[in-house]
Order: sequence, then C-alpha cells, then structure tokens
Amino acid sequence: MLKKIHHIGIAVKDIKAAAEKYVAITGIMHYETEYVEGQDVDVAMFEVGESRIELLQGRSENSPISKFLEKNREGLHHVAYEVEDIDKALVELKAQGFTLIDETARIGAGGMKIAFIHPKSTSGVLTELSQVK
Ligand code: ZN
Repeated sequence: MLKKIHHIGIAVKDIKAAAEKYVAITGIMHYETEYVEGQDVDVAMFEVGESRIELLQGRSENSPISKFLEKNREGLHHVAYEVEDIDKALVELKAQGFTLIDETARIGAGGMKIAFIHPKSTSGVLTELSQVK
C-alpha cells in the first residue's frame, strides 16, 4: 500500500533560519515555499533524492504546528508515505483498526491529497499518507 517515504515533516519556530540550515546541509539552493491555509502553516520543501524534507512553521497559535511546539521541541513532526489511492488506503487502515485523524483526505502542501494517522497506531510517530496528483 505504501510506495515510498514521500517526505519527513519537521516542526520549526523560525522557518527562514531553519531553511538556511537546510540549504547548507543539503546543498540545495532552490526550495519551494508555500502557505497552507488548512493548517495555518508556512512550508518549505527541499527535494532530497526521491524524498523531501518539509519544514513547517505555524502562523498562529491555533496552527497544529504551534500546538505541537508548545509540548515538544523543534524536530520530527511526521513521516509521510506516498500512496496510490488514499481513499482506498484509509478504508483499509480503518478496517485494520488504525486510528485515523482524518477519515477522509484533505488538501495539503503542493495540492496533494493527504490524511493523518494517529501516532498511537504507528509506534508513536504521526503518519501522513500523501497521494501525488
Ligand atoms: Zn507533511
């Protein structure tokens, strides 16, 4: 069902400072930035090989990323896997007893269809499914 790791999401407090570090560590000068309204986050996406690093900074305290950073340090927020058919994957995972945060897919960064699986079902790591257009 899972094709590959699509990206790793990292929660940061200062996306510009974090992006500078990732430019230095990856050597990738060009990266995509975007505001995702549904989560009230700014996103910077670095393509590294066939996967990506997704830096996330909340714009307001209502953003899930800001709430995460109230309880946690900056760092790993989620791992995202690419799937062929996200709707089918959600039905199958629910039938297997996984706790879904999103029962139906929504639109995330890059216009991808995404959905989250609760970390209690995935050994403590928030897991995202991503269906590339
Ligand atoms: Zn993500």
